[in-house]
Amino acid sequence: MTGKIIKGIAGFYYVHVAESGVYECKAKGIFRNRNIKPTVGDDVEIEVLSEVDHLGNINEILPRKNILVRPAVTNVDQAIIIFALKDPVPNLQLLDKFLIQMNKQRIPVVICFNKSDLIREDQIEELMEIYGKSGAQMVFVSAKNKEGIDLLFSALKGKTSTVAGPSGVGKSSIINTIQSDVHMEIGVLSEKIKRGKHTTRHSQFIPVDVNTYILDTPGFSTLSLDNIDAEELKQYYPEFELYEPFCKYGGCNHIGETACGIKDAVADGQLSPVRYEHYRSLYEELKMVKKY
Ligand code: GDP
Ligand code: ZN
Repeated sequence: MTGKIIKGIAGFYYVHVAESGVYECKAKGIFRNRNIKPTVGDDVEIEVLSEVDHLGNINEILPRKNILVRPAVTNVDQAIIIFALKDPVPNLQLLDKFLIQMNKQRIPVVICFNKSDLIREDQIEELMEIYGKSGAQMVFVSAKNKEGIDLLFSALKGKTSTVAGPSGVGKSSIINTIQSDVHMEIGVLSEKIKRGKHTTRHSQFIPVDVNTYILDTPGFSTLSLDNIDAEELKQYYPEFELYEPFCKYGGCNHIGETACGIKDAVADGQLSPVRYEHYRSLYEELKMVKKY
């Protein structure tokens, strides 16, 4: 049988198998010899030891698509970042930093703007203008009115996603809404997981549909770019690519250079000035850091 490791505690792995629920498994010594450690997110081959108690052994780890460092999980297809449209107002520079980090790791992003019940339609259009060419998919939802949740669900379906966002944006409300439909099915899971009396925070995937998992990650209010060089930053702005051939100088950083395709595109209204200004200030910030 194959399943996915959705949680690991003290040598036990909780493997979710579609339709039959969660099995508490141990991993065989062969993995130690091969210098590979079963990790949350791994798709695994298991052997059932007791169908009654839902106990098993992990016999094989299927090839990994990718490995994330923080949190340490594997096989993530995409990241969902949640911001509120209002209360609190979205910190777009923080959003841009998140997009940069995900682009560096080549993880596609879905930006989910919540609390659409609190704002006017033209504010949504403004955000679509800013992020329309950023490479990220956008969904606008209201957890309160249950609006747009179906769109978010179709973005999740069949994929493994991490869910992040600053606190207060409605992340828990959204996850609860998405989870409510599957609560019955994953009841087994909660029972098993409650038994772990460890209080440390573990990464845990929540099964929400067939082959569909979400990973709730801790809220954050700042994000560091200290793993990125100023000169590297432009690579993580997919919308720059189209205009870079018009820069006069090879390796143009689109800051102080003359005859810059990016700056021209911003002036022409082809590229978002908001995105560009954040780019410029992040670039300056990174430049400063390297000086000292
Ligand atoms: P979290 O900190 O991101 O997990 O946010 P919560 O889910 O705890 O929600 C924070 C606050 O925003 C709570 O008071 C929610 O009732 C409220 N909230 C969540 N979603 C919506 C929404 O779609 N519209 C409005 N108006 N309020 C919401
Ligand atoms: Zn340029």
